[in-house]
Amino acid sequence: MSEYRVLYETDPVYQMAVKQVRDAALILGLADDVVEVLVHPEKLVQVKVVIKRDDSRVATLIGWRSQHNSALGPYKGGVRYSENATVGETVALSMWMTWKNSLAGLPYGGGKGSVRVNPKILSPRELEELSRRYFAAIARDVGPDIDIPAPDVYTNPQVMAWYYDEYSKIVGYPAWGVVTAKPMEIGGLYARVVSTGYGTALSAREAAKRVLGGLEGKSVAVHGFGNVGIYAAKYLAEWGANVVAVSDSKGYIYNPKGLDIEKVMQVKESTGAVINYKSEGVKVLANHLELLELPVDILIPAAIENVITKENVERIKAKVIVEGANGPTTPEADKFLHERGVMVVPDILANAGGVTMSWIEWSHNRMGCWLTDEEALARLDKMMTINFNKVLDEWQKKYSEYPMRVAAYVIAIDRVVKAMKLRGWI
Ligand code: GLU
Repeated sequence: MSEYRVLYETDPVYQMAVKQVRDAALILGLADDVVEVLVHPEKLVQVKVVIKRDDSRVATLIGWRSQHNSALGPYKGGVRYSENATVGETVALSMWMTWKNSLAGLPYGGGKGSVRVNPKILSPRELEELSRRYFAAIARDVGPDIDIPAPDVYTNPQVMAWYYDEYSKIVGYPAWGVVTAKPMEIGGLYARVVSTGYGTALSAREAAKRVLGGLEGKSVAVHGFGNVGIYAAKYLAEWGANVVAVSDSKGYIYNPKGLDIEKVMQVKESTGAVINYKSEGVKVLANHLELLELPVDILIPAAIENVITKENVERIKAKVIVEGANGPTTPEADKFLHERGVMVVPDILANAGGVTMSWIEWSHNRMGCWLTDEEALARLDKMMTINFNKVLDEWQKKYSEYPMRVAAYVIAIDRVVKAMKLRGWI
């Protein structure tokens, strides 16, 4: 048989994603021919996106939509606008969505899109034109039953509104189900805004129940106070944890007695930095990375990748680490923490709140029903709690010698492979 040679195979991000599949395949006993099926997208669309700049010149941009696997259902995953987007990265991200959706127990396959552009230099009008042209270019390949995009890096509910509008014009009816995380006025849920942080908080709560005897009074440090960190901190504080430290790029604040998270949120909103929060007993420190080494029960890295590394891992004191961010722990650090008995809840499990809420939005859009925010969050809580404990049970029963991250990939891939076998694909 001839080999399936592709342009993206030299991309380092893609190679990392392939390695994860190979490692999981060894544990599952999957043969190389099955691995080969798993590491390529079913369909990869490349589009040219031409926009008129405000100075009347035209810009020719490149975009992709990678539809990795649909064994479990329609493709699902975000679209990012990034100067560094590559086809290999897009394929890798779509593969991660397949595993994330599978692990979350959702009836979705995995997809991801990107446009190679620096979104910061675009005017609002240019951003709208880019969004509409990109979506028109992939319109034949997406749809409520085919592939359902959502926000990712540098895309947001307004961009989803343009996608939705462009697609609805093409098909001739209001197609709510074609994208998720839409604004509330056109079929979205406000709860989608808080859902990733909520899911991270919920993962910490369930992990604490399993290994710390409950969440009540446990100390928590949250690294990063963006959309994920803010809501993770807010809900953990509401559920009785003692959130003692939070950070952003300008520094961190720490009070072993606990912080008033609602007030920190107001300070962040009005001044742009958590270090402007003033209260008795609060220490303000400049180096946000030091927050990771505080003596706390639970650590939530919710900012950027590669912050827990072989340089600082020996100084980390938390017993439970819940990854709100993507890839905050390097593989060496992960291994070290596992050997020391620290539970590291991996990103693909701990930040699945966003896509799970997307499913709630999409399924209600499809039925023409509405949900209140309370109902949507209660639904998210129930789905994620059941799933989280199921994944943990399977890890502890079958794969406990491996870090939880490895087990998560194994469980996710196993579910996809079983669906492919049932459907007669392999
Ligand atoms: N971009 C988000 C993720 O990576 C959301 C995907 C979605 O809601 O479809 O999980």
